[in-house]
Amino acid sequence: MAMANRLANKTALITGGNSGIGLATAKLFVAEGARVIITGRNKETLEAAAKELGPNAFAVVADATDVAATEAAIKKGVEKFGKLDIVFANAGIPGGTPIGGTTLAAFENVIRTNLTAVFFTVQAAVAQINDGGSIILNGSVISVLGNPGWSAYAATKAGVTAMARVMVSELSPRGIRVNVVAPGAVRTPIWNGLAPTADAFAALEKRLAGTTPLGRIAEPDHIAKTVLFLASDDAAHVQGQEIFVDGGATSSPAGAPVFRA
Ligand code: NDP
Repeated sequence: MAMANRLANKTALITGGNSGIGLATAKLFVAEGARVIITGRNKETLEAAAKELGPNAFAVVADATDVAATEAAIKKGVEKFGKLDIVFANAGIPGGTPIGGTTLAAFENVIRTNLTAVFFTVQAAVAQINDGGSIILNGSVISVLGNPGWSAYAATKAGVTAMARVMVSELSPRGIRVNVVAPGAVRTPIWNGLAPTADAFAALEKRLAGTTPLGRIAEPDHIAKTVLFLASDDAAHVQGQEIFVDGGATSSPAGAPVFRA
């Protein structure tokens, strides 16, 4: 297969680039000609990802909730590959926070990782991004679906979209675009805690597919391809949008298989 080059000569930062959606996006970006800096907390999976991605990838261990570590990782990446053109603030964690069973620490851990760290990733990256760059934040359908037990997570993902709108106002003078990709359920290790066995995951997948008009959950590539669109010049005039990649789950819940006669 011929290499495509929609991201030729571009440098991208992907937080959480060692797993799931972030890793799938890193692979697609490299295949499209980009140089990619990936971060995460886990040294082993980061090194494995970098090996798989090849010489146009550079992995740096950095906890996104640690502002100094994030700034240092971006500096190292920029030293290696040049100033940024694309930022995918993707790192995130699940974490149930049901009413009646939630500690302050558990709630704040989700907020710190999925909301606060996203802001500080963007702040650190903006100091190193070229004018005309593209920033993509990872949202979720859970911001609008009202899933029971997910208050903190839902708040972070709604918050990401609200922040993106503010970032658009602050960064448009530099021609920088900020958009949100909001996935429905995607087949990634994020579900391992909730569904630790193959059987448990199959049951969960059946339930999630049943509430999705297209009758399936997403594969990481479905999300990566939308992130590629938002990152590339194909989306040159797309600014401040939230694109749901969810098989119709939020637009048309009444069309889901569970409602079919
Ligand atoms: P994974 O668990 O596969 O990936 C999560 C990634 O985030 C890992 O690379 C992890 O790396 C990284 N990460 C988590 N916490 C931190 C941290 N403190 N610092 C740095 N990196 C961190 O899940 P997904 O690929 O599914 O999730 C990616 C994003 O997509 C998340 O924001 C999630 O909320 C969102 N999303 C996922 C959906 C799904 O169904 N899968 C649906 C909607 C949204 P490490 O462990 O090494 O730190």
